Amino acid sequence: MDLFFNKKLAETYHSASQRARVLTESWVVENMFCPRCGNLHLSHFGNNRPVADFYCSFCKNEYELKSKTGPLDKKVNDGAYYTMIERITGNKNPDFFFMNYSKENQCVKDFIVIPKHFFVPDIIEKRKPLSETARRAGWVGCNILIGKVPQQGRIEVIKNGKIAEIDEIVKKVNRGKALEIPDIKERTWLMDVLFCINQAPTEFSLAKIYEYTHYLSSKHPKNNNIQAKIRQQMQILRDLGFIEFLGKGKYRKV
Ligand SMILES: [Zn+2]
Repeated sequence: MDLFFNKKLAETYHSASQRARVLTESWVVENMFCPRCGNLHLSHFGNNRPVADFYCSFCKNEYELKSKTGPLDKKVNDGAYYTMIERITGNKNPDFFFMNYSKENQCVKDFIVIPKHFFVPDIIEKRKPLSETARRAGWVGCNILIGKVPQQGRIEVIKNGKIAEIDEIVKKVNRGKALEIPDIKERTWLMDVLFCINQAPTEFSLAKIYEYTHYLSSKHPKNNNIQAKIRQQMQILRDLGFIEFLGKGKYRKV
């Protein structure tokens, strides 16, 4: 894997956004592997498809790339809000690649994979509609709040220029597959409770997770029995092997 862009490819493009698109997308085709099956090459769909940018010819999984210059810690700007919500709730999303690149050095600094099932409406932030004077007045864009994705769904391929092992990445992606729940409401609950567990130490008590009752209640105002829901989700996470029950209300992260 070469972290540097193939600058020659962008020589004929004048607009900065076009150049960035060509450089980042061709980097994926030339360097990125399929994080689902480990196939060493990905193919490009061509520019006219609105959704996925890349696919793996072996396992047929699809990927979309979002690039920016700046850390991948909080949010990444994306397209139309309602389209994104529709894609998530309809389970039509591909897996996502997020890239942070250096404009000065023309190279990739950070690169993460977020599998599709970690996307819930909650991580899509609605932006203010464009003003009356804008060319597309009233259009509503969104931000993807990648900082809110549980760590199990943020799989680092490149961190600060350091490249992770392919085997490790494939293993992590496939482990996260256990969390693939088609029902969007149930998936949101699982992600929320997982997010709370991730804040706790390796060994923790049920009482520790109950501390998030208020937080979860603000996210799910219609649910009148948050603690029962927490216990139900913890049982699912235990059955999936993400946490272990030690007895007497104590748990351990696996
Ligand atoms: Zn594949």
